Amino acid sequence: MEQEYDFIVVGSGIAGLYVGLQAKEHFTVLVLTKGRIDECNTKYAQGGIAAPIGRFDSPDLHFRDTVTSGAGICDEAAVHLLVEEAVDRIGDLIQYGLVFDTVDGEISLAREGAHSVARVLHAGGDATGAIIENTLSSLARGPNVSVLENHLVTDVLVEANRALGVRSLDCESGKVKEYFARHVVLAAGGAGQVYRYTSNPDVATGDGVALAFGAGALVSDMEFFQFHPTLLYMPGVPPFLISEAVRGEGGLLRDVSGRRFMQEYHPDAELGPRDVVSRSILSEMERQGVNHVYLDVTHLPAKRVMARFPTIFRFCLDNGLDIARDPIPVAPAAHYLIGGAKTNTWGETSVEKLFACGEMACTGVHGANRLASNSLLEVLVFGKRIVQRALAGEKWDGKVTTDNDLVIPFTEVERARDVTSSSDKISLSRLQKLTWSNIGIIRSSKSLREADLQLDLWNREHTPEMNRSSLELQSTLCTARLITKMALLREESRGVHYRSDFPQESPEWCRHIVFKGSTAQQ
Ligand SMILES: Cc1cc2nc3c(=O)[nH]c(=O)nc-3n(C[C@H](O)[C@H](O)[C@H](O)COP(=O)(O)OP(=O)(O)OC[C@H]3O[C@@H](n4cnc5c(N)ncnc54)[C@H](O)[C@@H]3O)c2cc1C
Repeated sequence: MEQEYDFIVVGSGIAGLYVGLQAKEHFTVLVLTKGRIDECNTKYAQGGIAAPIGRFDSPDLHFRDTVTSGAGICDEAAVHLLVEEAVDRIGDLIQYGLVFDTVDGEISLAREGAHSVARVLHAGGDATGAIIENTLSSLARGPNVSVLENHLVTDVLVEANRALGVRSLDCESGKVKEYFARHVVLAAGGAGQVYRYTSNPDVATGDGVALAFGAGALVSDMEFFQFHPTLLYMPGVPPFLISEAVRGEGGLLRDVSGRRFMQEYHPDAELGPRDVVSRSILSEMERQGVNHVYLDVTHLPAKRVMARFPTIFRFCLDNGLDIARDPIPVAPAAHYLIGGAKTNTWGETSVEKLFACGEMACTGVHGANRLASNSLLEVLVFGKRIVQRALAGEKWDGKVTTDNDLVIPFTEVERARDVTSSSDKISLSRLQKLTWSNIGIIRSSKSLREADLQLDLWNREHTPEMNRSSLELQSTLCTARLITKMALLREESRGVHYRSDFPQESPEWCRHIVFKGSTAQQ
């Protein structure tokens, strides 16, 4: 008889590890992760984690900034929990041994775009994510918790809409095995690899959303993919983010001729919302026929730049750029998946005993545009609630939507049934090229329809093999289809979703689009 765990957690970023650590105090836990334990988005987070702890801050102010950024469709009950439980969850990280940066004995707070006060706690200057990941992973072994690396979860085992466990591929031996648990928590991260240019590492292939969708869970808000305005643009150099906090410290955006331009696009100039800054940069790049702009910190004291951004400073220097003397070439890139498996405020999905946490979950706190540094906080607040829910043993009620949500069975939005075959065979680079040009920062009915047709064709033709790259391609394809179909339906522009054919926000669309997956869709 197979061992049954209390918890199976899929993923070992902050979401998987934090839930695992909280759960192991009371339950047996198995963490499955498809690469090494520290291969994840988390370790690249630079800016930090938002929490209303400052003297001039309050949960109310943090709430207001979050819902303003979310452009009318934040789940306000979830945002209240986010800001009210923030301080306690920061306390959990400190208890786990995380040391935040301080000034004169007090936690040092940075200001980032669209926050009305300095509110972002950081560690190691700009190494917050790496320090969190190291701290949590060093605690994640021992009694009650096992971690299996190189185990890629391929399916959630579901019977009568109840999760029983997962099926997983051991990427080293090639063996497939099933694991059973009383609670299954998907914490499999983001999907930046859907796009050609991204700040996300290779593991971010949308597996979590694909797993939830394949299990029949409701998936929501996929049209909202946040693009970060400033990824380092140096051909041949691996993707590297230049944190928003650099603009918070006074970094200025300039076009290739050295002209500052952001004040022409938004009253907060460089500190405007990410979507506005990304589109403004794109429009300057298109206007001048170039593929980058500059982020300039050369007017700031060099010592301050080095002390505050040691990781960025070092990375650029190692690649031949001294940012204290020369402006940094940057361009926008796919950054954060706002949508995902729809959950209630206890992290429950619409499948019983299946929970979702972290970037792949859609708790509703980000609305149509995530406020910078709210994502790490979201993980802690809702990760804790998953374990609290399991401890309380409350009955699952299956309700994760409201009457205002537009819930559509996925079969109703599938296309390409009449078309015989695709001229191009699918590959990750072909898919990424299509998504970047057709479902990226600026979309239209034409670009979305083209993408939709091609993606549906690829989906019909692609039969995944039992190896990591083929399975990841399948997840990326599933995620891209969900983004495209929701973006087509949303005939307006809101938050990070920008339609050139519907450039205004429409009151009719002050609602969420939700697709119902089914095991047959995969
Ligand atoms: C460059 C960068 C900078 C950022 N800066 C900030 C910031 O300053 N503040 C902030 O709040 N947020 C920031 N973010 C966002 C934030 O870091 C992420 O949203 C958050 O870390 C996601 O955590 P997670 O645990 O959900 O996912 P991840 O950390 O990505 O972990 C996902 C895990 O799931 C595993 N996995 C995936 N698929 C499978 C599968 N099929 N089977 C088994 N395991 C699987 C992966 O291997 C990985 O271990 C940043 C993101 C990036 C990329």
